[in-house]
Amino acid sequence: SRGAARPLASQGASPAPPVRHPRLTVLSGPSGVGKSTVVAHLRTVHPEVWLSVSATTRRPRPGEEHGVQYFFVDDDEFDKLVANGELLEWAEFAGHRYGTPRRAVLDKLAAGEPVLLEIDLQGARLVQQSMPEARLVFLAPPSWDELVRRLTGRGTESAEVIEERLTVARVELAAESEFDETLVNTSVEDVARELLSLMEIA
Ligand code: 5GP
Repeated sequence: SRGAARPLASQGASPAPPVRHPRLTVLSGPSGVGKSTVVAHLRTVHPEVWLSVSATTRRPRPGEEHGVQYFFVDDDEFDKLVANGELLEWAEFAGHRYGTPRRAVLDKLAAGEPVLLEIDLQGARLVQQSMPEARLVFLAPPSWDELVRRLTGRGTESAEVIEERLTVARVELAAESEFDETLVNTSVEDVARELLSLMEIA
């Protein structure tokens, strides 16, 4: 009878766990840690993995093509993308703007397909806020010394520039605790394999 119905809370049932759709994976990490190298390798092994192509206001580097590595747009075009709500997130990095086109990502997710974003830390935080079901993966350097080596690299930068980069890197490394998973970039092949397994692709 209706009188027997009790509120759910009094039936002793624990609330259903939140449904997780970890189809959206965000790969981020300190600059210079090798995110794009890992993603490039992953794509050679598994070209079917869909990677979001970002819009950016920076100029193409030699060999980069519009629509492949990025959609290269000017400031006005980027303004329009922002104003029209066409970006899932965007951030300024090293004097240029970078953003993830919303539509393509949502379409892939709606089709149940895995989606990979390779974006900076600010962007990763924004995705975490707007799509809390996303899986955030932090790519960490094997060691602090190794990151220093990569950032100081060619040895052509001034002491000030290097010091500034290292200060930024220290702050960026501290972001690890905000992430769901950490992958240590010991070898490109290993990390790509681990990332695929997190994405439940291989
Ligand atoms: P690069 O200019 O070297 O290709 O990329 C610079 C930085 O921008 C990298 O850390 C890369 O992960 C990040 N990035 C690329 N696309 C996006 C994007 O759509 N959004 C955000 N927030 N960062 C991005």
